[in-house]
Amino acid sequence: RRVIFSGIQPTGILHLGNYLGAISNWVKLQNEARPDDDILFTIVGWHALTLPQNPKELSVSRRDMLATLLAFGIDPKRSVLFYQEDNPCHVELSWIFNCITPLGQLRRMTTWKSRLATVRNANDESEVDESLLNAGLFTYPILQAADILAYQATHVPVGEDQTQHLQLTRDIADAFNRTFDPQKKFFTLPEVLITPNRRVRSLKDPSTKMSKSNPDPSTRIMLTDTFAQIDKKIRSAVTDSIHGITYDPVNRPGTSNLLSILAACENADVEEVAKRYVDKGHGVLKKDVSEALEGLLKGPRSEFERLRQDRGYLDAVAKEGAEKARARSQKTMEQVRTMIGLY
Ligand code: ATP
Repeated sequence: RRVIFSGIQPTGILHLGNYLGAISNWVKLQNEARPDDDILFTIVGWHALTLPQNPKELSVSRRDMLATLLAFGIDPKRSVLFYQEDNPCHVELSWIFNCITPLGQLRRMTTWKSRLATVRNANDESEVDESLLNAGLFTYPILQAADILAYQATHVPVGEDQTQHLQLTRDIADAFNRTFDPQKKFFTLPEVLITPNRRVRSLKDPSTKMSKSNPDPSTRIMLTDTFAQIDKKIRSAVTDSIHGITYDPVNRPGTSNLLSILAACENADVEEVAKRYVDKGHGVLKKDVSEALEGLLKGPRSEFERLRQDRGYLDAVAKEGAEKARARSQKTMEQVRTMIGLY
């Protein structure tokens, strides 16, 4: 029996890259799940705290994230949908794992290394200054391990950038098993469910990914954009001056990005989609991309706006999700406490 688990940060309104790269995979997994699969999706507020947050904005963002997931088709009857911070076991288990994880293992995380690369000693540029980073940034892969193992997840759908963290989760599970379980098999070692990675690129600089941190909003399509906004952004997307349309991500990244977006909207093969445009111009392609995006986003956008106003419903979904999540982790947590001698 599969237990599928994944989490997303409460970043508020998502962009097209987040949808095609992450959320759409969740929806597909849910809709194609076997009847006996257990599926859990969580909005990870504790993880968000590793970066500075404005409390008022965070409380809006987490609710917006819940509304977004529902609007795009996560069905709380089929998936356990909850806020991480509504089930105390994540933090509890993470503390226990903190106490069995060697520092060296955390230092090897590439996410940590790339954080370190951003902080330079004011007096000596060649030195990094760890004191500029908080401890949560260092230990959050442990919290991730707790998120996953609390539910004895067997499959974790993540992008390739997360495989190192998943390996750490397996190492922690194994360390716990060897330390506390005479049978050495208490925690299930979860597997990565590599989901198709549809990298969506910036509309203005296709050598970079579409990202929420880019200061220029015209580089990305937001899931709340109106048709007029979508159309304007797609029209001004960077392409090339080569005649005719071909799919060639290396030499024609802008054009290829538009083709990939169109193929994703149509759930079709990108090479097949490209064939239709071989003797057409960028104007025609852009018009079709805008319309396809509108087709994809129209329904979820209005559902999102409706849900956003319905706080009572959102709170009820969160409450029910939290109850289900707590029920699923309870037995594991009791056993863990017994094994470590604190029950
Ligand atoms: P940042 O600007 O910090 O990169 P982001 O919202 O653009 O933030 P993340 O928060 O890092 O992206 O990612 C959230 C999820 O969305 C992850 O699963 C990630 O793989 C996916 N994702 C983000 N950007 C893209 C993209 N351009 N194409 C495909 N998937 C993406």
